[in-house]
Amino acid sequence: MTEQAPATAPLLPLAGLVKSVQTPEFAGITFHEVLSKSALNKVPPSSTMPFEWTVNPYRGCSHACVYCFARKSHTYLDFDPGVDFDSQVVVKVNVAQVLRKELFKPSWGRHHVALGTNTDPYQRAEGRYGLMPGIISALADSGTPFSILTKGTLLARDIPLLRRAAADVSIGMGISLALLDEDLAQRLEPGTPSPKARLALISKLRDAGLPCGVMAMPILPWLTDSDEALDQLFAALARAGATGVSAGALYLRPGTREWFMQWLAREHPALVGRYRRLYGTGAYAPKEYRQWLAAKVNEARARNGFSAQGFVHDPRQDEARYPSGSMPEASNFRIGHEKAGTPEGIPASAAFSPTLF
Ligand code: SF4
Repeated sequence: MTEQAPATAPLLPLAGLVKSVQTPEFAGITFHEVLSKSALNKVPPSSTMPFEWTVNPYRGCSHACVYCFARKSHTYLDFDPGVDFDSQVVVKVNVAQVLRKELFKPSWGRHHVALGTNTDPYQRAEGRYGLMPGIISALADSGTPFSILTKGTLLARDIPLLRRAAADVSIGMGISLALLDEDLAQRLEPGTPSPKARLALISKLRDAGLPCGVMAMPILPWLTDSDEALDQLFAALARAGATGVSAGALYLRPGTREWFMQWLAREHPALVGRYRRLYGTGAYAPKEYRQWLAAKVNEARARNGFSAQGFVHDPRQDEARYPSGSMPEASNFRIGHEKAGTPEGIPASAAFSPTLF
């Protein structure tokens, strides 16, 4: 590994900070390594989230999606929600050990644990810190069902581990992919693996016999919401073997809104007025737009063989993908919908939640 240099200036007294480092392999990014006292986060009862527990090994995300809803959460650490969110990444270096202890307490109820609900657990930092294998093992060893949502192709590294975990617990896999246009993706999600690479990841998961739903969010008004764009996207997802797809419109909460609108003014100035009129001062697109989009999404789903229920697996896809009973053995995974009424371990109600990316 290339020698580490200390960060020029630790930005603030982060709780549990061990050191802040920069390395040439991650130019422009500072990692703040912290020792965390807890790993499991309880979702507040007031939340509409369909799960109660989450684990977030990282805060901040070098995937740097302009529309990322989690930007505001970086301000709680005294970072800014723009550049800092993309480049000041807090790493809970002891998260797997702490999680294991929490999961093996007699009081732990083996509730579903969701990963990837705030920042991406397979962002680039994971290549350096390798926290996810310990997290997955702790969850599986303790009999805790879990789901992972990501844009990171680094997930492929852990497929063998996930296959083993799926033999013991219900797991759900979700890939976030909402557009195919490589140029637009590069400008909109500059730190992410390309759409092509994410499609290949979906196929890898399916070839390994794992379920793989797709979160096609956010769909962007006038940029990615045409029939043609949706159809091409859903067709590509079907070809890749996705077991379901859910989609929803852009959500512009404070902290994200300012950052996104600056990007829009730079990249698509002609759309600024239209977005202002569409979103007004709110975070959500108006109900009429969301209903219009939902109808288009349902049509695109139907045209491409997906169920209308978001993450509902259509066995026809397996038949097309695995002719004459060639489905891999590991497909005896117990996916969430068998128990909870929703596939992939990510409840369908989450599909339109703005707090999942
Ligand atoms: S949307 Fe997800 S992948 Fe993109 S920056 Fe936010 S947390 Fe990272």
